[in-house]
Amino acid sequence: MSALTTIGWIGLGNMGTPMSQRLLSAGYPVFVYNRSPEKTTALRDLGATVATSPAALLAETDVVFLMVSDDQAVRELFTGSEGLLQARATGKLLINMSTVSPGVSREVAALCQAQGHTYLDAPVSGSVKQAESGQLVIMVGGEESGFTQAQPLFQHLGKLARHLGPTGNGNLAKLAMNTLLGFQAQGLAEALLFAQQHQLKTDDLMELINNSALSSVFIKLKGEAVQADNYAAAFALKLLAKDLRLAQAEGLATPLAETVVQTFQQAEPALGDEDVIAILKHLKRR
Ligand code: NAP
Repeated sequence: MSALTTIGWIGLGNMGTPMSQRLLSAGYPVFVYNRSPEKTTALRDLGATVATSPAALLAETDVVFLMVSDDQAVRELFTGSEGLLQARATGKLLINMSTVSPGVSREVAALCQAQGHTYLDAPVSGSVKQAESGQLVIMVGGEESGFTQAQPLFQHLGKLARHLGPTGNGNLAKLAMNTLLGFQAQGLAEALLFAQQHQLKTDDLMELINNSALSSVFIKLKGEAVQADNYAAAFALKLLAKDLRLAQAEGLATPLAETVVQTFQQAEPALGDEDVIAILKHLKRR
């Protein structure tokens, strides 16, 4: 794929904004669309062209990325009255990096195929920091030829992109990863609560964890958030609650998973817009 490939980017939230900025910085012409138009200003100021609808965006571009919340957003963006599938176009590559169900990927992949487009599910692991620095981990389902075509673009977004088989397999891998993320967030919260219950200082416990075999980038970042009393969403609790529901719908029913799914669903109404580590506040309130 040449540097002249024209990119379309749909979804300028916490993740989509830095990811699309990286492609723009790499020199690709980028068209953007966001449901709430005010979020396109930053990208426009950097040189992107703002499209008025998903269909208009597809008509102008070769490869379209989506980075939006959930299954409903994906359905609306593909099949809405000004949706992607309304464009009079064929032969495009559509790459859905949102964390959604394998089912919605299979559904829209079939609609894309009927119009001569290629669809990849390509969700990511990593949060805003990794999106900004191009260090995401990308897990891909769909045709191998589409993956090969997308590789030069993935290199600007992630440190690893792995093809995992047919449509939906990227989504399944992501649900497995986020199941573990749920365990770790709740596990860290429970360990800190237990320590606090016995008057141990959070700072001391975090120093111990971060210097032990239990250390990880995730634990370190979330520990820092707790220490700074900063629960602003890097990854919103409601998004993880959604992912755990998706995993459950795919058959996740093991003992830890059942507990974590339940805890995050209970926390979601009050703390959904805060970060995943706000699960600590929920557990404290119990
Ligand atoms: P976010 O900041 O909440 O942004 C969500 C985006 O989806 C916004 O552009 C929003 O448009 C759009 N959207 C929502 N519903 C829509 C609809 N019905 N039609 C059209 N657009 C719609 O979310 P995010 O944190 O960037 O996450 C995006 C995806 O990446 C999610 O699937 C999430 O699970 C996944 N993810 C997130 C992280 C993370 O750390 N944040 C990490 C890995 C994966 P508006 O601006 O109009 O609301």
